[in-house]
Amino acid sequence: MNKIPLDKLIICPGCHTLHRKIRLKDAETAYCDVCEKALYTDHKNLLEKGLAIALATLITFIMASSFAIVRIEINGIWHDLTLPFVFVTLFKEHFWVVGLIVSFLIFFVPLLYIVIYTFVMLLFRLRRGYETTRKLLVLLSQLRAWNMVEIFLISILVALVKLIGYAQIVIGVSFWALAAFILLDIYLTRQLRIADLWDLREEIYHAQR
Ligand SMILES: [Zn+2]
Repeated sequence: MNKIPLDKLIICPGCHTLHRKIRLKDAETAYCDVCEKALYTDHKNLLEKGLAIALATLITFIMASSFAIVRIEINGIWHDLTLPFVFVTLFKEHFWVVGLIVSFLIFFVPLLYIVIYTFVMLLFRLRRGYETTRKLLVLLSQLRAWNMVEIFLISILVALVKLIGYAQIVIGVSFWALAAFILLDIYLTRQLRIADLWDLREEIYHAQR
């Protein structure tokens, strides 16, 4: 019987069909021939690309939470709406549950995700922490399901549209930082998939052993 090593096989996340992995050209993606879901991508410089994008995502996140997303004029007074201000206001107004859920989903999870991602890429770069990166990659896949930062931008846009006519609104610098962060975050989670990072990990530490 023809024996195939397990790490040469890949299971489709969409329909659970088993496929045999083949080598692809740079940035080529393999798709499931049953349900057409993306299976894996071969990035030639995943380490450099991943580290650069992770750092850029982290910087835009810090910018997005440091300055005003929008400035609103209510009764002649201008208010700076910053990301932390939204949570503080929710808690101040005793919306405990909403405050907790919102700060968890759109602040702490995305922040934790990007910090861990950057840390894993740094460890890869230094070729250290074989066991640590394994634990962190497992944690990343668990966090990924809770990363809902895109929904946040949509809710801000909806809120802004509703406010037009009631108050004067000026878009702040953090709005653009937040938009950039969300685009980078989507690229990071959709394109540089965790499954690809597992492969990269094998490559890096195997070359060392
Ligand atoms: Zn499939």
